[in-house]
Amino acid sequence: MMVSFSDMLTTARRERYAVGSFNVYNYETIRGVIESGRETRTPVIVAFGAGYLPNMEVDEVGALVRTMAAASDTPVALHLDHCKSFDVIVRAVKAGFSSVMYDGSALPFEENMRQTARVVEVAHAAGVGVEAELGALARGEHSNEEDASEIYTSPDEAKVFAQSTKVDALAVSIGTVHGMYKGVPKVDVGVLKKIAAVVDIPLVLHGGSGTPEAIIRECIANGIAKINVNTEISVNAVDKIRALLASGKGWHLSEISREEVGFVKEIVKKYMALFRAA
Ligand SMILES: [Zn+2]
Repeated sequence: MMVSFSDMLTTARRERYAVGSFNVYNYETIRGVIESGRETRTPVIVAFGAGYLPNMEVDEVGALVRTMAAASDTPVALHLDHCKSFDVIVRAVKAGFSSVMYDGSALPFEENMRQTARVVEVAHAAGVGVEAELGALARGEHSNEEDASEIYTSPDEAKVFAQSTKVDALAVSIGTVHGMYKGVPKVDVGVLKKIAAVVDIPLVLHGGSGTPEAIIRECIANGIAKINVNTEISVNAVDKIRALLASGKGWHLSEISREEVGFVKEIVKKYMALFRAA
């Protein structure tokens, strides 16, 4: 069933677990994420990144996810990930998305706040949740997010931003990266603790792929209620499909497609167990 993004995450922060937000870009990834939730009875966020618009249109994603979620008794939210376009956000709201992420993280603070508040006004009028981002994540390996210099989120700015924009969730930058880590992850939980002390809405951790379990547990204990995973799903599926093709069997595309669903579920279920157990 489809549920409210805000309710899902407010409950998670209060009860100290995190909801996994997994990126999708085709039927196989959508099915892999929703089936993982249903089979483990875990609430899940299906995240469609605006960067994947060349793969699927927002109204197609909306129709597919809403149909599949209706056949599942486990809570599903459909989220638009990393979007800079007001026009695409409006289309997602109309397509029945539960929430949208307006990414103004590259803008100056005041401008990010102004644009985010404008998105909140439109989205909330339709009952749709909003996530925004303050600070910037660096890009690691195998990511197709934009490259950026790392800027940690300022707790003082986060407090003002959350109060003035009325966003439902705030993505913070504390040392995780988009993609796989190039070296040893350096995550500053101290910064997160300062943010969580002054911002009471659910906090979001981008760059879940490859983040060590101990760090994830500490983050969840300190206000993180949504964790994004994208790259590791892709890396695992591509590696396994490459191995299938190398096996010499004559594969039909329909069989590869079914195998892909299984490869997606391996990573999604691993993270679901970790986010819940923390
Ligand atoms: Zn992200």
